[in-house]
This record gives sequence, structure tokens and C-alpha cells, in this order.
Amino acid sequence: MAKKKLVLIGGGHAHMVTLSNIHTIVDKGYDVTVIQPSDYHYYSGMGPGMLGGTYHPDDIRFATRKVVEQQGGNFVSGKVTSIDPEKQVVRLENSEQEIEYDVLSCNAGSFVPRDIIQTDSPNIFTAKPIESLFQAQEKILSLSKERPLHIAIIGGGPSSIEIAGNVQQLCQHQGAHQPHISIYAGRQIIAGKPAKIRKLALASLTRRGVKVLEGTYVKNIDQGMINLKDGTSYPADIVFPAVGVRPSPIFANSGLPVGPDGGLLVNRFLQSTAHPNIFGGGDCIYFEPEPLDKVGVYAVRQNPVLYHNLMASLAGEPLETFQPGGSYLLIYNLGNNEGVFCKWFFIFGGKLAFKIKDYIDRKFIEEFQALEK
Ligand SMILES: Cc1cc2nc3c(=O)[nH]c(=O)nc-3n(C[C@H](O)[C@H](O)[C@H](O)COP(=O)(O)OP(=O)(O)OC[C@H]3O[C@@H](n4cnc5c(N)ncnc54)[C@H](O)[C@@H]3O)c2cc1C
Repeated sequence: MAKKKLVLIGGGHAHMVTLSNIHTIVDKGYDVTVIQPSDYHYYSGMGPGMLGGTYHPDDIRFATRKVVEQQGGNFVSGKVTSIDPEKQVVRLENSEQEIEYDVLSCNAGSFVPRDIIQTDSPNIFTAKPIESLFQAQEKILSLSKERPLHIAIIGGGPSSIEIAGNVQQLCQHQGAHQPHISIYAGRQIIAGKPAKIRKLALASLTRRGVKVLEGTYVKNIDQGMINLKDGTSYPADIVFPAVGVRPSPIFANSGLPVGPDGGLLVNRFLQSTAHPNIFGGGDCIYFEPEPLDKVGVYAVRQNPVLYHNLMASLAGEPLETFQPGGSYLLIYNLGNNEGVFCKWFFIFGGKLAFKIKDYIDRKFIEEFQALEK
């Protein structure tokens, strides 16, 4: 009898436990294939710190291909474009190959929309994929040797303040000329979160020379200029669009049921509402029982349930439900070894906040990097 096939799209944060158990899945007689564009998965929580030079890319990445192959799984280097749930195959970009599955799990993450960008300038860097922050770092360091750069960050959310603070750190420690860093924050930075977070972030960034423009919206980015809706324009040598994320387009492209944001619509078992052999976790899903924030915390919490349900689905056993859990800890890395710590109403800023984040993040990635040995 042919072996049953488990296919994983993306080796993201919600697949870490499944990836670390591939040997068990293979030992049980199943065939496992992991599809991902890069041989490595980058831990987003440490991405801004890599941009700022606190971490080397090797410190924040997980060798997906190596870990999969050394446990007897198959690794396919590629980008999934669509799923055909009737034929039970996935299709890849620039490839005729169709990959068959009996059970499919999707952890393809999210992307930063580029709608406002009207140029194909190579100096535009989104925070996803995280690898592009390393390319941004190289570009900033090489250009700032010649002159002070204008660096624009579009959006006022968590990734925006983390990028701004870490670009400032990068240039202070390694850049020849200090850049002019501006955040085009929309209504205001860190809108929708407790006011104290905003106050602490603003204080840290403005003290270090970052300009924060609030109450202004960007219309478009064209020919090295940031054009605002109020008619004003500002120069920008390097642009980071950080306007929030949207789930991977794979599901909408495949005609699968999706939530209002385009994420794969899943029930409390993290299972597609239409196709019982399709599961998912992380930023790429829309959790039908209650919408979840696009934070790595949920992807990490989904790991054991997703792994259990994939195994149960292969074996025809009962599924477990995912409980999102209560409030979560968030610490923003503002560069300069400073952070903002936030859990419930307990909020503080400074070096201790960054130290706690650094400790937690290093522990998380080192646990999974240990599988590479
Ligand atoms: C700058 C920044 C900082 C952040 N900091 C934090 C933080 O400190 N704490 C926190 O909780 N959250 C943080 N977040 C949010 C966090 O990044 C996401 O919630 C988290 O990455 C979601 O994990 P994921 O596994 O779903 O997606 P991802 O981490 O994006 O992983 C998706 C994986 O799928 C692969 N993939 C993508 N497309 C395809 C495809 N078509 N086919 C095959 N494979 C594909 C990718 O290569 C990647 O390996 C941050 C986000 C950003 C942008």
C-alpha cells in the first residue's frame, strides 16, 4: 500500500513542533514533504535586532532543509502558488510539478502589501520576508558611507517603531553619516494600544533623532519621494513599508474558504472549514471562532495542537481543539538596547525590557537550532 503523504507549506513558527518530530512521523510509516522558498526560516521576533546589528543572520535562523532531511523527510525548495483540494495537490511557482498530499498543513505566513509603491526602486524593503531586512542593512551601510540618507518608514505599528529604532542603532554604530529617519505614522504611532506604550516609544525614538509624523497618510511612493495625502512630499533614499500584514494569497488564489482578511478559514481544530484534510496555523489562517492578532505568540501556541491534529488526521483519530489562551507578553525592541515591555497593564520601557526580550528570543531560537546538530 502506498504511504500516506503529509505535506507542509512553509516551515514557520506554527510548524516548529511538527518539524522537530518528522522522525516520529516517518517512523510511523508516513511520507513527509516540506515546501519553503528558502532553506532557512527566520525568526521574526529577532528580525529588527538583526537589522540593527545586534544579531547576525545565523543567530536568528533555523536550518529547515537540514532538519527535515536529516530526519528522513523531503524538502522542496519552492513557493506554493495554489492548492487543488479536489486533486489533493499543491502547485509551485515557475514549476510544472504538482505535489500530492493526503493531509496538508499550511504555515505560509503573511506579507506586507505594496499597494502604495509606484516604483520598482531596489531601495524599498518590507519587513517580510525577514531576510529582506538583512539586504536593507547592507544597502544602508554602503550608501551612508557617501552621504546622510533619508530613511522613511511608512506605518506606525510595532514593526515600524522597531525598524526605526534599529536603523538608528545600526547607523550610530556602523554608518559613516547619521541618516534622517522619519516615521510616517498615519493617525499616530502604536494607535490602538495603551497610551503608555506610545509615550515610551515616542520618547525613546525622538530622543535619538527619529522624526515621527502623525496625522498624515502616505498617498504613494514614487521616484524617491514620499507623497502625502495632504499634498506635501519628502525625499526618501530608503523606504520601509510597514503598513501591517496580510495572510499569504495562496488560499484566495485557490478558491478555498477564507476569512475577511484572506486567511485560510479554519475551525477550532485549525482545520479548513471546507476540507477536513487541510490544516493551518500562524499568520496565514483566519481562526473562525475568534479573530487572532497577527503575532508569533499565537503561531507558537498552535504548535502542539497542529502537530497532534496532523497525526490524528493521518491515523483517523479524534482531533483536539485549539484554545488561543489569554493575553500575551509583547516586548518591542527599539534598538540601542532599549525596549518597551507590555503585559496586561504592566508597561515599562528601558534596557531591562530589551534584556528580557533578548533572553526569551535567544532561548526560543536556540531550542530549535539545537535540532540542527
Ligand atoms: C518586524 C517584525 C517583528 C515582529 N516581532 C514580533 C515579536 O516580537 N513577537 C511576536 O509575537 N510577533 C512578532 N511579529 C509578528 C510575527 O512575525 C508573525 O506573527 C509570525 O511571523 C507568524 O509566524 P508564521 O509562522 O505564521 O509566519 P512566518 O514567520 O512568516 O513564516 C512563514 C514561512 O512560510 C514560508 N512561506 C511563505 N510563503 C510561502 C509559499 N508561498 N510557499 C511555501 N512557503 C512559504 C516562509 O518562507 C516562512 O518560512 C513581528 C513581525 C514583524 C514583521
